[in-house]
Amino acid sequence: VLEATALTDGPDDQDDQLPIPIQPRGWIGDWIAKYKLPVAFERAWNGKGHRWILRDCPFGGQHDPEKAFIVRQASGAVGAGCLHTDCHGKRWPDLRDIFEPGWKEKAQSKNGKSSASEQNLASRLVKSVECDAQLFRGSDGKSYAALEENGHPELYDVESKAFKGWLTRHCRVALNSIASAEALSNAINSLGAAAQGQPVRNVYFRVANLGTSIYIDVGDEQRRAIEVTADGWQVVDAPPVRFRRSHTTASLPNPVPNGDLSELKRFLNYGSEDNYILSVSWLLAALRGTKPYPILIITGPHGAAKSTYAEVLRKLVDPATLLNSRALPKDERDLAISGSNNYALAFTNVSYLSPAMSDALCRMVKGEGFWYASFAHQFRRGAVRICKSPVLGWHRRLR
Ligand SMILES: [Zn+2]
Repeated sequence: VLEATALTDGPDDQDDQLPIPIQPRGWIGDWIAKYKLPVAFERAWNGKGHRWILRDCPFGGQHDPEKAFIVRQASGAVGAGCLHTDCHGKRWPDLRDIFEPGWKEKAQSKNGKSSASEQNLASRLVKSVECDAQLFRGSDGKSYAALEENGHPELYDVESKAFKGWLTRHCRVALNSIASAEALSNAINSLGAAAQGQPVRNVYFRVANLGTSIYIDVGDEQRRAIEVTADGWQVVDAPPVRFRRSHTTASLPNPVPNGDLSELKRFLNYGSEDNYILSVSWLLAALRGTKPYPILIITGPHGAAKSTYAEVLRKLVDPATLLNSRALPKDERDLAISGSNNYALAFTNVSYLSPAMSDALCRMVKGEGFWYASFAHQFRRGAVRICKSPVLGWHRRLR
């Protein structure tokens, strides 16, 4: 027991030899040492803070010692003062002025320099993007940048995450700089404003109907499209229309000629020939790309593969990377978010349709506006027109 005690209890004066940890004193401890302020004693202050009592008054007051102090709060904030009435109103900046003249100007120019260089990087970035990209205002009111990436055309919503990623890469490659969040956000604001000043151009999602021809976005990296005219169809590398995409847009299968539509039958549990005709009609109406769109309602008993039915049809028009079918959104706002990120929608396990949702779906297929009070990351305040082609997979019999 004695041996153990001897090992743990050091000599009495050991505590005095322990260095005072730097961390609780912070940079101000170094500052006090650097300018050799006459510290009488120091101790912890308000929990994790620290306080120094000075022997002589550094403010020049001729009074009793140990009235002046410097304190570092737990937050890191530094304060100073003197308790003597002669020194009333003296604060930390006054003390710093005495020992470190010119510190204010130094701090200001340091801040000024960093913000000026951020500003400079942002404007260089904007100039560089304006050379490489075509900025314009889309028919949906959003700001777009059309540019070439990896040898194929690309279209970005200026306010999207994807564009921010591209801008970060562009800054590294074209300007050999790492863009800070501040520079990126300044550049994005400026590019968005520049795009809004340009003439409006049509932007399509998946299908564009130009009257005599229809273009269908394949959804692949090369940005190819299927051109459909009265004479037939072909896959084109550079469609004359701009397609917007969302983070869930997936590629359509590569189309091959001389197919037979009746091959579709083995993928659908369609029941009667009439149902099959209705389903093909929905497909054609969806691929036609003009409003109003029909709503296909699939009904059937449990286990009749209604969800699969809805998904097969949707995948032929607008496949998604994540879910090709989902539950009916709970309100109009969620429906509009789905609508803005997809061309065709498929909702399964629908067992009830509220009057409000029924109304919203009708307005959607007719391409009428949706009004939002706040939908900031998707749209600006205002009305949006979303025209979609939904399939409803009904849970039970239609009520
Ligand atoms: Zn004083």
